[in-house]
Amino acid sequence: MVLFPFERECMPEIVLNLHMHTRYSDGAGLHADIAKAAMKAGLDAVIVTDHNVWVNGPAGYYKEGDRCVLLLVGEEIHDQARNPQKNHLLVFGAQRELAPYAYDPQLLLDSIARAGGLSFIAHPVDPAAPSVHEADISWVDWGVHGFTGLELWNGFSEFKSRIRTRLHAIYYAYFPRRIARGPLPETLHRWDDLLSAGKKVVAVGGSDAHSHHMRMGPLRRTVFPYEFHFRAINTHVFLPRSLGMDAAADSEMVLDALRQGHCFIGYDLPASTRGFRFTASGLGSSSEMGGELSCKGGVTIQIRLPRLAECVLIKDGTPIRTWRKHELCTFIASQPGIYRVEVYINYLGRRRGWIFSNPVYIK
Ligand SMILES: [Zn+2]
Ligand SMILES: [Zn+2]
Repeated sequence: MVLFPFERECMPEIVLNLHMHTRYSDGAGLHADIAKAAMKAGLDAVIVTDHNVWVNGPAGYYKEGDRCVLLLVGEEIHDQARNPQKNHLLVFGAQRELAPYAYDPQLLLDSIARAGGLSFIAHPVDPAAPSVHEADISWVDWGVHGFTGLELWNGFSEFKSRIRTRLHAIYYAYFPRRIARGPLPETLHRWDDLLSAGKKVVAVGGSDAHSHHMRMGPLRRTVFPYEFHFRAINTHVFLPRSLGMDAAADSEMVLDALRQGHCFIGYDLPASTRGFRFTASGLGSSSEMGGELSCKGGVTIQIRLPRLAECVLIKDGTPIRTWRKHELCTFIASQPGIYRVEVYINYLGRRRGWIFSNPVYIK
């Protein structure tokens, strides 16, 4: 029997939810509430990102019974004086307050890099939803360089894109499982363009969880509680070793894996995406998501899905092969290119995005 490289190596996979707000900015809960909800949802780690404040203190392991979760504290930085509001940036691992540099996005990115942090463009395309007084908060300064990646799939931007009337807002507040279908097409195009321009841009999924209380006339509801988000759009990360109990060392390991793009976005609500693998092996070496490989002599791409689904292999932004109802997919690549995978699943009456991998770079 031939073993797939991922069956031989077996790197530990953790489920991480990132981009969420507490009462330190405009969220409804505290860090401890987030940790509790994360443990209930079965997450391994979360990254809290309040607006323009780095909350130094609550990071670390939280435990309850036999469950535990690693909580990291990052920040969502943007220039509050800017009108209209644009250019939100997620910052992880800088371990200091960098919000004062927000007035100049490039200066901010350079300061994050100097501090050893990671930077992800938050909700790169974020449409306005006038019926609920939500403005467009897209990223507009695309001339910048030196960011780690972007938030390819943001739960809240997608929600905004669906709200054409207040009735839509109420409907989706009561049936949140019907919202998610995949990253916005404009964001996917933007990512492919950046990759084609030779930039290594890591894609992550973010929930933008606030656990807001909504009031519309007599209706009151907590819209999208933290726990709902934590069962939805997650980032699955591959680590060189399992998480232990040293919060500082483990946090560094998680951030390092994110920096290298050893991760994929999984929409875990229809079915868990744990177990997805995408590897490429060539002459004497193999690579996982985020890695590079020479195409000399041909490269075997191997994809394993956690269950039967529709799998699309994309090269340089163009689909080159689709497998329907497959679990194991293989492809021989003889051309250099940037290869990535999208997986679709049927859920609640429609085809929805389930998995979006980071690329393997074949040179
Ligand atoms: Zn934002
Ligand atoms: Zn946010």
